[in-house]
Amino acid sequence: MQAVIFHGPHDFRLESINEPKLESPSDAILRVTHTTICGSDLHLWDGGLPAAEQGFAVGHEFVGIIEQVGEAVTTVGPGDRALVSCTIGCGSCSRCRRGLHSGCSVTTAGGTRSNIFGFSSAFPGGQAEVVRIPFADSNVFQIPDGVSDEQALFLTDILPTANMATEFAEVAPGDHVVVFGCGPVGSLVQQLAFIRGAAVVIAVDLDEARLAHARQLGCETIHPEKENVLERILQITDGEGAASVIEAVGRTELVSQAALYLRPGGVIAVAGVIIANVDLPWALFLMKNLSLRGGLVNPQRHVPQLMPLIESGRLDPAQLVTHRMPLSEAIAGYELFAERRDGVLKVVLEP
Ligand SMILES: [Zn+2]
Ligand SMILES: [Zn+2]
Repeated sequence: MQAVIFHGPHDFRLESINEPKLESPSDAILRVTHTTICGSDLHLWDGGLPAAEQGFAVGHEFVGIIEQVGEAVTTVGPGDRALVSCTIGCGSCSRCRRGLHSGCSVTTAGGTRSNIFGFSSAFPGGQAEVVRIPFADSNVFQIPDGVSDEQALFLTDILPTANMATEFAEVAPGDHVVVFGCGPVGSLVQQLAFIRGAAVVIAVDLDEARLAHARQLGCETIHPEKENVLERILQITDGEGAASVIEAVGRTELVSQAALYLRPGGVIAVAGVIIANVDLPWALFLMKNLSLRGGLVNPQRHVPQLMPLIESGRLDPAQLVTHRMPLSEAIAGYELFAERRDGVLKVVLEP
């Protein structure tokens, strides 16, 4: 089968490898119909996240059709359309039982390895024709008839990530919410903040086209190189500051700055991927009773909340798809996404 194989930064190659097979009674084999490139794949692509090895298939956002299941799998069967959580939980350990599949003590081997698809040879990824899914009952969800593969694709990672951030931010009716970033995750955060009852969502980004998209969703927008962010936020919030700031870019300085924009009791939630230390203005946290939350996503916990929003038409994440190409053109897709050419938001690859 064809798969996108990691050989190093800027060195992903489309190669033919053997199809995976069932290895355990709790496994499923999925034939991928749609997969997409994520901002976190770019951390491997640009070398920001050094991989300890080479030669594994990348990709952690994919959906498809179940081809085969082990004898212990009860929730899906051959022929089912299915989506797969990007983080793999065993479903039975104490962390999984608390909804923290990302910290599963079994699949992380006691915290010694990543349990996300496509970041090592332990769990080869879904930018491939076929994927083996460990602990299928815990990590696979059937896609209902009214939901397209492309819509379900966003339930594998970024829609749950956006939902987690609005949950961390405790977005409540009437809130003023600031969202740093109007990329795929930022855009979903904006939509979910409105669904949770935010009165005003203030979107901050350097890209005019992305700001225009945020305005279409009903957001106020700020371009930080053209306007003073603090002044505008104070103006929009009648001098109070925002109830929450959600970081959906992945930059440490935005987490630090967020404290300035909050009202007393405000919350900073980090949805962006940050793999570095953050300097915090702790005096502001103390004086304003602020809090800060972040973490890896657990789609297993969020899919049941989010699927009905897609089914009912209140949320259509497939609007984010700007480019579609065959898996054979994946490398060109990476270059397009990494260079942010051609108004790209999400590139969908079809094996
Ligand atoms: Zn992702
Ligand atoms: Zn577990």
